Amino acid sequence: MSAAVRERRVDARRDPPSQVFVALGQVLFGADVRCCGHEFLCFGDGRCQWIGEHARLLKVRMCTAVGASSGADNRTCSRAWSTVEHPAEQEPWFCECMTDDATLATEIAAGAGELLLTLRAAAPYEHYGRELGRRGDHAANAFILERLAAERPGDLVLSEESADDAARVDAERVWIIDPLDGSKEYGRPGYIDWAVHVALWQSGKGLTDAAVAQPAIGAVYSTSDEPALAHEPLGRYRPSIVISGSRPPAFIRDVARKVGADLVPMGSAGAKAMAVVRGEADAYVHAGGQWEWDSAAPVAVAQAAGMFCARIDGSPLEYNRPHPYLPDLVICRADWAPALMAAVSEHTDAPTDSARVAMARAYIHSLISHDASHVRLAEDAWRVENGQRTGNSGIEIRDRLENGAEYRQLRRVRDLTFHEWHHDVVARFLLDITSGPNEVTTVSITEHFDIPAGDIRSIVAIIEPLPSGEHT
Ligand SMILES: [Mg+2]
Repeated sequence: MSAAVRERRVDARRDPPSQVFVALGQVLFGADVRCCGHEFLCFGDGRCQWIGEHARLLKVRMCTAVGASSGADNRTCSRAWSTVEHPAEQEPWFCECMTDDATLATEIAAGAGELLLTLRAAAPYEHYGRELGRRGDHAANAFILERLAAERPGDLVLSEESADDAARVDAERVWIIDPLDGSKEYGRPGYIDWAVHVALWQSGKGLTDAAVAQPAIGAVYSTSDEPALAHEPLGRYRPSIVISGSRPPAFIRDVARKVGADLVPMGSAGAKAMAVVRGEADAYVHAGGQWEWDSAAPVAVAQAAGMFCARIDGSPLEYNRPHPYLPDLVICRADWAPALMAAVSEHTDAPTDSARVAMARAYIHSLISHDASHVRLAEDAWRVENGQRTGNSGIEIRDRLENGAEYRQLRRVRDLTFHEWHHDVVARFLLDITSGPNEVTTVSITEHFDIPAGDIRSIVAIIEPLPSGEHT
């Protein structure tokens, strides 16, 4: 968007009333003029004028208009005008022209997408893989936070890449963002299934505005888009369900058989949801654990495009909860929802993890995978192992999980059970460790996790040899 349609502040006292307002009265409801309320008249090209007492005479309306056409050059202005209250009666009033929330989400998602494409194109080959994903996460997060702080300084943010701020739960407006959804795919040359998610949640309204960018295919989808193209009528072809390649729902093969659908693995929740919005797939079903930032923007965009969106038990998807864990969802074409949801409910009986158990499980999973990108650790997290301090910060613990030589020998987690109460989760399992050529030792592990909010605060591990003679 050009500088001409960027936000502009006008000091009304330096822009005194003039005869132009008399003429403006005649075109007050024309496409190129909007009143921002009180005593100002704003033009599509960003100028605002004080009209004082004329305001009442002209019966100007409070402007909530979005999508005003710019008279200057015929662009779509797509902005809402709003006033900023004057700090004191004698102070000049200011009128601020704001980009509306859906346009802002679109601009930010597109901007972060461009940044990610540039970063990826410039990355040396040795940075590809997890390192590139991490750089992309950080760069896109910084870009989005900076834009939101500049454009919406009063709003709070829930980001995958930032520490959680408990104040957001009581806030009126919260942006829920995943700066780079599908970091793994982003780090792989040629992969296109990664996305940028920017969604706005408002108290009492839920998700109101959002955008999902898929930079690798040059696409940005928004809640203000025209309704999606209709899917082909049901029964004209064999439908498809997109699923996570790494964490497909345990029940999905039974469901696919029941409804006669093909399964298509794909990375990035945003890419999967947008495949449904575009009509390339008929549903996206997930049950392998997810966070609010994974689904907020895709769900808002899909809902705006007329898609059915719900938890797998049919209950509504709710956002900005104290614990941002939202483990499952279904996004599908609305006319297929009854049949698909019936098949899903027939085949889902396994309970899903609670948020805290999911966090503990992600940690234990990383012992073997050496990928800690899904492990939620507080900045000041600490770890103790049989009385010895083995970690003094979230960064240090994550680094050890991914690069520590002691973790390289871990082979398999078995007989894993969880016990949860209050903020506490205890995991008990057997761990197979390579102890020599063709030699495996098994130890018994008990790990206590303290998880007061959206990340793990501490881990206390007890590692015991199995009693001699005990065979596993
Ligand atoms: Mg991400």
